[in-house]
Amino acid sequence: MKRSIFKGMLLVSVLSLLACAVLIMDVLYGYFDKQANEELHQQAASIARGVESAGISYFDGFQTPERVTWMTAAGTVIYDSQADVSQMENHSDREEFAEARDTGVGEATRYSSTLAEKTIYYALRLEDGSVLRVSQTQYTVLTMLMGLATPVTIVLLCGMLLSAALSSAVVKRIVKPINAINPEQPDLDADYEEIAPLLRKIHTQNQEIADQMQTLKKQQEEFRQLTAHMREGLLVADSSGQVLSWNQAVLEILGVPEPSDTRNIYEFNRSEPFRLAVEQALAGQPAEQVLSLGQRSYRLLASPVQEQEAVTGIMVLLLDVTEQEHREQLRREFTSNVSHEMKTPLTAIHAIAGMLVQDVIEPKDVKKFAGDIYHESSRMIALVNDTLRLSRMDEQAVTEQKEPVDLYDLAEAVIARLRMAAGEKQVSFSLTGTHVMVSGVYSMLEEMLYNLCDNGIKYNHEQGTVTVSVLAAGREGVLMVQDTGIGIPPEDQDRIFERFYRVDKSHSRAIGGTGLGLSIVKHTAAYHNAQVQVSSKPGEGSTFTVIFPETLEC
Ligand code: ADP
Repeated sequence: MKRSIFKGMLLVSVLSLLACAVLIMDVLYGYFDKQANEELHQQAASIARGVESAGISYFDGFQTPERVTWMTAAGTVIYDSQADVSQMENHSDREEFAEARDTGVGEATRYSSTLAEKTIYYALRLEDGSVLRVSQTQYTVLTMLMGLATPVTIVLLCGMLLSAALSSAVVKRIVKPINAINPEQPDLDADYEEIAPLLRKIHTQNQEIADQMQTLKKQQEEFRQLTAHMREGLLVADSSGQVLSWNQAVLEILGVPEPSDTRNIYEFNRSEPFRLAVEQALAGQPAEQVLSLGQRSYRLLASPVQEQEAVTGIMVLLLDVTEQEHREQLRREFTSNVSHEMKTPLTAIHAIAGMLVQDVIEPKDVKKFAGDIYHESSRMIALVNDTLRLSRMDEQAVTEQKEPVDLYDLAEAVIARLRMAAGEKQVSFSLTGTHVMVSGVYSMLEEMLYNLCDNGIKYNHEQGTVTVSVLAAGREGVLMVQDTGIGIPPEDQDRIFERFYRVDKSHSRAIGGTGLGLSIVKHTAAYHNAQVQVSSKPGEGSTFTVIFPETLEC
């Protein structure tokens, strides 16, 4: 600003100086020209008077700086103060001569070939008709200008230097109050009325900015409070990747300390998926990636924030999908296991059916093979039923309402159902305890106890026993199934509740197990907020205990 004001002022000064110089020279030249002409006229009139009274003898000893020429009425030169008249041509064709001869007075100006000089002629007709001419040679404007060039240039340069110095001083004075403005606290009482509107504007804008900052801070605080309790990690960054906002969850998820100031988003995580998602969002495309951090998996969603198609920032959300991934993994394993379990009985049925079609089975063996088909299809039905039950419980699609269930009565019913199977294996059943009422879904509880008792028979020795006990311990209801069977090795005890887990696969299959019984027991117990415990010693037997947290009045 200082420079342009200075330049402007200097230009104005120089132009003014030049204009003044030209004007002064023009006035001076006009003045001196007029003076010279007047002098010429007076000189001519004085000589004319002398010649008229003294004739040619007037010029004896005559000396004057002007050139004087006396001509006859025919234009023949009689006298010339500077030349030999015998050498001079007739002057009748000269403009000033002709004019004086005709009117009494004649004037003319003629320039030299170089235009450096001009000669002013003034002629007067004398009484005898002759013409007296006085002329004077002067420098032209051009010559005068040339002659004055050096002093004028020196004067102009001095003028310019003076102007520059003055301009600089004036500029400093002009900008001083502007430089003195404090944008944070403009002095509204300043003396300069020209900058008063500017000061008022700055003051108003300062207030507006302060108000907006306060609103912004409030909104930021609200945003922080809202996002503070989110389990999902949240990052908001501007279009250059500088993080504007974050929540506590994102710091915990990414394992970074609370940043003291704004930081680049890549400082929060430098993994490839994170970088790719951020880059894609900054380019205006929503992105999704999976981020593995330690034992946990996160879905990373990065969305661009756009304003009129320009990306003004991005939002990154981190969702914990570990459980979901785990469930998905279990579901995949389950589907693959079910297919695998189905394949065995189906292959057997398919093979027997093939032999029947080809008529290669002896009539006496037909019954045996039909029995095999019955056995394999029963396994399939059991498998399908167990799978359906588990899916229903997985999807929490149990439609039956809870009702008061007497565990003792339930145990009696289950034992009755299994008495034949127990008899076949020569395993004896006994029921001890008392009537205990719990709130539950009868069919589910029946299925649970059936599976426990069925296992007690299946994995028992001949002549073994299965004891079902129903007890009340404080507010808790306890259902216990104890067998004297083969027992479960300690390393398997934690895993037997997993789907399709069997201690001895071939043995379990041979005795018609699906590998889902204890999973159903676990889910049923969880559905009733009950706990299942197992204690077992290989070769001695196992005890499964289901503890219900609350019993009902009988
Ligand atoms: P399955 O249909 O094979 O019996 P379960 O889920 O009921 O499937 O049981 C899982 C595994 O736990 C069985 O294969 C078996 O190896 C073991 N198991 C379950 N109950 C007993 C028990 N009472 N005694 C010994 N082993 C058992």
